[in-house]
Amino acid sequence: MLYTSTRDKSIRVTASQAIAQGISEEGGLFVPVELPQFSIDKISSMVSMSYIDRAKTVLKEFLTDFTDEELDYCVEGAYSAEKFSSPKIAPTVNISGNKNILELWHGPTCAFKDMALQLLPYLMTVSAKKTADGKTIVILVATSGDTGKAALEGFKNVEHTKILVFYPVDGVSPMQKLQMTTQEGENVAVCAINGNFDDAQSAVKSIFTNAEIKSQLAEKNMMFSSANSINWGRLVPQIVYYFSTYCDMLDMGKIKAGEEINVVVPTGNFGNILAGYYAKQMGLPIKTLICASNSNNVLTDFLKTGTYDKNRDFYTTTSPSMDILISSNLERLLYHMSGENDTLVADLMSKLSTGGKYTVSSELLEKIQKTFDAGYTSEESVDSTIKAHFDNYKYLCDTHTAVAVKVYDDYVKSTGDDIPTVIDSTASPYKFSASVLSAVMDGKSPELDEFEMVDELNNVTGVDVPKPLASLKDKEIRFSDVCNKEDMSRMVFKLLDL
Ligand SMILES: *Cc1c(COP(=O)(O)O)cnc(C)c1O
Repeated sequence: MLYTSTRDKSIRVTASQAIAQGISEEGGLFVPVELPQFSIDKISSMVSMSYIDRAKTVLKEFLTDFTDEELDYCVEGAYSAEKFSSPKIAPTVNISGNKNILELWHGPTCAFKDMALQLLPYLMTVSAKKTADGKTIVILVATSGDTGKAALEGFKNVEHTKILVFYPVDGVSPMQKLQMTTQEGENVAVCAINGNFDDAQSAVKSIFTNAEIKSQLAEKNMMFSSANSINWGRLVPQIVYYFSTYCDMLDMGKIKAGEEINVVVPTGNFGNILAGYYAKQMGLPIKTLICASNSNNVLTDFLKTGTYDKNRDFYTTTSPSMDILISSNLERLLYHMSGENDTLVADLMSKLSTGGKYTVSSELLEKIQKTFDAGYTSEESVDSTIKAHFDNYKYLCDTHTAVAVKVYDDYVKSTGDDIPTVIDSTASPYKFSASVLSAVMDGKSPELDEFEMVDELNNVTGVDVPKPLASLKDKEIRFSDVCNKEDMSRMVFKLLDL
């Protein structure tokens, strides 16, 4: 299996090159040249497997330059029982009737990013051994909150790696901030920036492709790579849980082999939902992928009209990990859906970076709409959805999951399409205790500090507090730097002692 670039399809690299490098030289994203196919029989044979074995079965097809021993080492290390609080790793829970929730937050940082970022450091170090001959890999991360912590936790004290994380100073929840500023590890650094996630992401992308910085790094025997979902090694682990939830739905008797399901994804950078698209293209019976956004509804507008326009107000919402106006992974979808038209993709992306806007042809839009639907949710509906699901089903959603649940309820109302459905749940409600508590208590929650809030949410709902969040209370703050976005490259030099 080889990989090419969305902006130059003459490029061919192996999986380990794609993962070690992160992004293609000319700025495009790596994509598989062709996708492996899974028959219904093959999928059914995965029902009796553990998550680890399901992961090996899927990943083997993509990481063809990894030996079986290497893959075993990576997957078993990533999804070990000490790191995940559920033996199923990513359990599927039935809410009622055809409505099911895929819980992706049982990892060490309590958000779905762990599903990929527990595995990525293993994939990256194995890949670097094959391709980067002893270089230290410097991971640069722009985060809207959850990626930063999950990447820090995944890479901490991993040999031959360093990790630097930038987050928007006012754009993350208090719990997310504490998780990052208290991070342990010898090879980690964290810095806030005055700006939003898009500012951080754009600056990181330009640092990556800056020839001067790269050559200075090379002199020190270092190279950059990315732990954002622009890296193929972040996306490929996410394909696994779509196969896994389908197997669990079969196992629970919710569907018959071959029966189609809908999938609803609370979306920001378009990584999670794109992994669902890859699963569908590989033969997993998914009918519609429903893209759920908060008030930053740039993707809803794109999927409805064909115009992507980031020139709009940016809202800071209670679902901060989805406060994104430039959804990087859409580039990969455009490449596949346009019949691998790298010239078109390069042109659209250049329009996006110069004018902040592009429009696709009606033919391309119609093709995308055959597979994708979209909707968005206001802040008030997030609160009422959390409350209604807790009152009616004793199920406590975090704010991001609530966005998806509401968009799904609206979708069923307007289309009548209520086939068995899986809604991705992307974070523990305790990562966003203030918002969740206020929703459950109808806006009447008392003034409390972050950890009192956690206790109160636990008192009111009886839902267990994840251990990694409870233990943050006693940790010391290690990182308090704040910089302007223009100064990020200088900060990189400082943090790396260049
Ligand atoms: C990152 C994140 C998302 C968005 O996922 P994408 O892959 O960027 O679309 C949604 N919810 C939570 C809690 C997240 O951390």
